[in-house]
Amino acid sequence: MKTSTNSLLAGLILGALGLQSLPVAASTDYPPAIWNPAASCNYSSRTASVTHVTVHTTQGSYAGSISWFQNCSAGVSAHYVIRSSDGQVTQMVREADKAWHVGNSNGYTVGIEHEGYINAPGTWYTTAMYNASAALTRDILASRGLAQKVYDGSSGWNAVPSDSLYNVKGHVNYASQTHTDPGSGWDWPRYKSLVAGGSGGGGDTGGGALSWPVVQYGNTGERVRTIQYLLQQWGYSLTVNGSFDTATQNAVKNFQSSHGLGADGIVGNATWPALTIVTQEGDTGAKVRAVQSQLNESGYGLVVDGSFGPATYSAVRSFQSAKGLGVDGIVGDNTWNKMAW
Ligand SMILES: [Zn+2]
Repeated sequence: MKTSTNSLLAGLILGALGLQSLPVAASTDYPPAIWNPAASCNYSSRTASVTHVTVHTTQGSYAGSISWFQNCSAGVSAHYVIRSSDGQVTQMVREADKAWHVGNSNGYTVGIEHEGYINAPGTWYTTAMYNASAALTRDILASRGLAQKVYDGSSGWNAVPSDSLYNVKGHVNYASQTHTDPGSGWDWPRYKSLVAGGSGGGGDTGGGALSWPVVQYGNTGERVRTIQYLLQQWGYSLTVNGSFDTATQNAVKNFQSSHGLGADGIVGNATWPALTIVTQEGDTGAKVRAVQSQLNESGYGLVVDGSFGPATYSAVRSFQSAKGLGVDGIVGDNTWNKMAW
């Protein structure tokens, strides 16, 4: 009885799978997407790790863009293309490969093309497409433990803020570009909020599901030192003394108001994710000192020299392994979070 039920179920499941797998193949990197590869002449392999996402507009139709990336005359490609009407996502280049979509920044970015035209955002930038794109970006960042640093549009739609400030930006927001997509009609505050999980734009739930310690005036210790180092990295001049003094509080308030956060001088769930910066081998400066000092707190005997070399890399990997995190030697949001606790 049991056997025949199982056989029947297996037959039904196989039948269903057969029906589904014939017309479309699923993406490996992002299962909700359809996999429909670009021509291999339109992309290459990459050596740098992915740290950023680029938002594009196709300036053409969804089907036309997919077909163009399969044509060797194109000489361009993107990892994903999203349909305006319903948010359908097609993946065309594996994230591990380098699609050609943003010039000098191809090596470390994942490119998402949005169907539409920059001069008709009201027609093309639909809720379905914003939602589908934000879910994809959230997945790209989360799968690498990267902080959500989505451009908020605060410096203008065509500003070129530094890569260290934002890891999700438009094509136009990267250095040395000639394209202007996604244009002035892309709703960055909305997109940022959707990537964070549709919190509605309040900013207090930025950083997704991670919970961070509350650190404020009067506190002392390694967490305070981390905050002070990160503030230095952001350009604030203050002394790193592990004591949340008035100077630290003022720097936190200034940082908060320049990042659209409530300027209460308290570092909690909203401010930590904005403050932390992806830090990896080859990086230098105060953010690296923050990492080294934190790792020493956990028993690693590193020299706090602000230079992310092999010893720091190895200690980060060991820390990640001990904390049950993905072991990649890169200090992203998840690793910062574990260090902060
Ligand atoms: Zn573009």
